[in-house]
Amino acid sequence: MAHIFTLNALSDNYIWVLHGVNSSHVIVFDPSEADPVLNYLQKNNLTLDGILLTHKHWDHTGGVKTLLKHFPTIPVYASKTDQVEGVTKFISESDEIVFENLTSPIKILDIPGHTLGHVAYIYENALFCGDTLFSVGMGKIFEGTPTQMYNALAKIKKLPQETLIYCAHEYTLANIKFAQNIDPNNKTLELRKSEVENLRKNNLPSLPVSLNIELKTNPFLRCEEPSILAALKNKGYTGNDPVSALLFLRELKNKF
Ligand SMILES: [Zn+2]
Repeated sequence: MAHIFTLNALSDNYIWVLHGVNSSHVIVFDPSEADPVLNYLQKNNLTLDGILLTHKHWDHTGGVKTLLKHFPTIPVYASKTDQVEGVTKFISESDEIVFENLTSPIKILDIPGHTLGHVAYIYENALFCGDTLFSVGMGKIFEGTPTQMYNALAKIKKLPQETLIYCAHEYTLANIKFAQNIDPNNKTLELRKSEVENLRKNNLPSLPVSLNIELKTNPFLRCEEPSILAALKNKGYTGNDPVSALLFLRELKNKF
């Protein structure tokens, strides 16, 4: 099983550090800041082998420039579409990324919607999905169409249920509050709420979370289910296709 460490950054970001097997080499996902990464590397006597970016927003890329000053030869990965400064390797869905110190290649999913060039990375059973999917929530559709976002979520839903999801922000409690408004009788959601409240009380991340739990608790992954559709209709939804239901739900969340 992959050894993944959490670094807190900015006000609610996570930078995920993936450790190579039996080695002092790591790679990082979405370094919003350089300092938490540099401190972690120094404290644990580690070398940085690469930077993987899910998308172009500053709260995912802000640390790249400084990290490259310390590690000028390491590769920086992102989609070409998102045009991030400092990127040296453009990737898309059919590509695989190989690091000498990892036991298997990292796979890529194209998941446009939040931005047009948003990608997710899959390593063994871990999914790094940036700002597309949050625990019990979903990212804003800034650049893509609702159909693109729906298709992005559909790709994630098809992954093995034991997939562990590493989102880039700690938004879970606020998302649960909104979800309970839509889905008040969901027992799994109630249990997840208690679990997350305890974790957050102890300053621990609510992540990763399994896809299995998300499929039961996240209304954005369950737009087609009768209980969610009924709740949306109660709030004025009149459409009859899953994409418009997803968009309606996202708009309700924007106003919540
Ligand atoms: Zn973003």
